[in-house]
Amino acid sequence: MGQFRVGSGAGVPVDMRRSARARRISLRVSTLDGRVTLTVPKHVSAEVALEFAEEKSDWIARALEKQSPAVPIVMGSQIPVEGRPHLIVAGKGRTARITDDVIEAPTTRVGASVQALLKARARARLVAASDRYAAALGRDYGRITMRDTRSRWGSCSHDGNLMYSWRLILAPLEVLDYVAAHEVAHLAHMDHSKNFWNAVEGLCPGYKAPRNWLRREGTSLHSYRFSSND
Ligand SMILES: [Zn+2]
Repeated sequence: MGQFRVGSGAGVPVDMRRSARARRISLRVSTLDGRVTLTVPKHVSAEVALEFAEEKSDWIARALEKQSPAVPIVMGSQIPVEGRPHLIVAGKGRTARITDDVIEAPTTRVGASVQALLKARARARLVAASDRYAAALGRDYGRITMRDTRSRWGSCSHDGNLMYSWRLILAPLEVLDYVAAHEVAHLAHMDHSKNFWNAVEGLCPGYKAPRNWLRREGTSLHSYRFSSND
């Protein structure tokens, strides 16, 4: 029955297959290759099956995450910032500082200080990108919120508020820019119609490459753990 994607933003590919024997809809994440299969009984419509998978998008994202090993953020770990690897080393200050290839963090609170630095940087970059695209589109947005969402990289509400995952700061900058262009384009088109994608292309020419990057690599951005309950 083909493949579709669940979760907004990049989404996760799901293979849908019909089964004559299945009694109810079931979802399975392969522990071998991370493929997600949705098995649908004969009498259930594709719409209902899609809705079911969409509701389970957080569960799918979590199941996939368990397959990419967690990377704890401690002294000596490496983390990408704007797509470039940064080594975490001991610093003297009370807050973390970043250079081209190093993050200096206080030894007593490595994870929390690195996370605070990344969140602030993500906010600055995403506000700048949203301002730029909103001006180009001739629309205003409400406020911007940063979250750590698992199944989506951003969203745009009906009243024009934007939400982004701060983990986008780990991805190459063109990926962060694409997500901002995508959400800002929703200020003009609240759907994924042809007009919407034309608006995205106008704001962010060549957006397909960063979009594909997110589909391929997006899950890996969730493997970094900043505290033990993260
Ligand atoms: Zn969208």
